[in-house]
Amino acid sequence: MNTKIIFILITNLLFCLSCSSPTTIDEEIIDITKSNASQLISFELEYKQSVFNCTISDNEVIMERNLPLEAKEIKVKAITISSKATSSLKIGSVLSISNDQKLMVTAEDGVTNNKYNLSFKVNEYTSIVDKHGLLQVNGNKIVDKNNEAVSLAGNSFFWTNNNWGGLKYYKASVVSWLKLDWNTTIVRAAMGVEDDGGYLNDKLANKNRLKIIVDAAIDQGLYVIIDWHSHHAEDNTDEAVEFFKEMATLYGNHPNIIYEIYNEPLDVSWDTTIKPYAETVISAIRAIDPDNIIVVGTPEWSQKVDEAANNPITSSENIAYTLHFYSVHHKQWLRDKAKAAMDKGIALFVTEWGTIGYTQNDPETASWMKWCKDNNLSHCSWAVNDKVEEWSIVKEGANSNGSWIDDKLTESGKLTRSINRKWQE
Ligand code: MG
Repeated sequence: MNTKIIFILITNLLFCLSCSSPTTIDEEIIDITKSNASQLISFELEYKQSVFNCTISDNEVIMERNLPLEAKEIKVKAITISSKATSSLKIGSVLSISNDQKLMVTAEDGVTNNKYNLSFKVNEYTSIVDKHGLLQVNGNKIVDKNNEAVSLAGNSFFWTNNNWGGLKYYKASVVSWLKLDWNTTIVRAAMGVEDDGGYLNDKLANKNRLKIIVDAAIDQGLYVIIDWHSHHAEDNTDEAVEFFKEMATLYGNHPNIIYEIYNEPLDVSWDTTIKPYAETVISAIRAIDPDNIIVVGTPEWSQKVDEAANNPITSSENIAYTLHFYSVHHKQWLRDKAKAAMDKGIALFVTEWGTIGYTQNDPETASWMKWCKDNNLSHCSWAVNDKVEEWSIVKEGANSNGSWIDDKLTESGKLTRSINRKWQE
């Protein structure tokens, strides 16, 4: 009990001793007790339009995810305190990250206050590629420049095809936003090949869209997958060879680059169709780029990784194999199949996966993400687009430059953002 309450109690007691009306005692005490509450309830910080939520524990305010190394100042976006209290920081206050920051919340009557220490979490590296360098395959794992297993979480862009709706998001600003606001560390440029408006119809337009994402990822220090987004790549092997020779020449010296030479083969033979195609394209890439990882699709929409494990590619090093899943269809049976393939010695890469969609309550996605984490697998969610379908991360008409606030994200977008934000710890 503080001195002011004691003082009021005493004055009221004296008053009561001298009169016959004690009913004001309780009212006075209750009123003062209420005004003494001075708690911080929630707190948000903002850096370059991205909101960093904070958790509060005792007298500590801790950011839920890291700021970029280059961040010097951060703005108070929202602060919620108990009623009848005021804070020493206001919405719009700018905080210097280099200084220890204190936050004082004081009751309206000035009697009690609580002091909070603000703890800034800042990355220790300029970018994820700066931290991990050139990725390599070591046994059944993807490892970094220090030979330590690496697991990345990121986003696949939508098909590049002309007039398919996803190309408006093929922008450097979107890559920047995914890095800052989603904690995305890998992006995938999905260059459509055979279908209408794809690479075979319009090589320059599709390739230029892909290059915007690749160049932005290199500039931002993210990993990037150059994806030959095809279901029939064996029908156009010469085109794939020509394209990947050009990509290896342009980008083969950058540690950021991962080649994905066949998105999703259909129901075709690994041994007699996919593997020979892959060996031809790999040979062309390796003549120019000896070391960046090449990921190879597997039969039946990149689920039959067991067939690749039974007959892996041995003509080159640094080969990984594609595993795709959509949580509405693919469950424990596919995780068991994939684990058996890894146990046989091949490395897997989840270059594309999808949530159940339209809800954040997705237990199968939770199981898949735990499994990916346990097995150090990297993954990119489908897809950066506003098409009205369950996997799009933003709502129809969302800003094509990024900077999406919460109400522009779909349920799938909110779920995958929360996964990406927490993945690198
Ligand atoms: Mg290289």
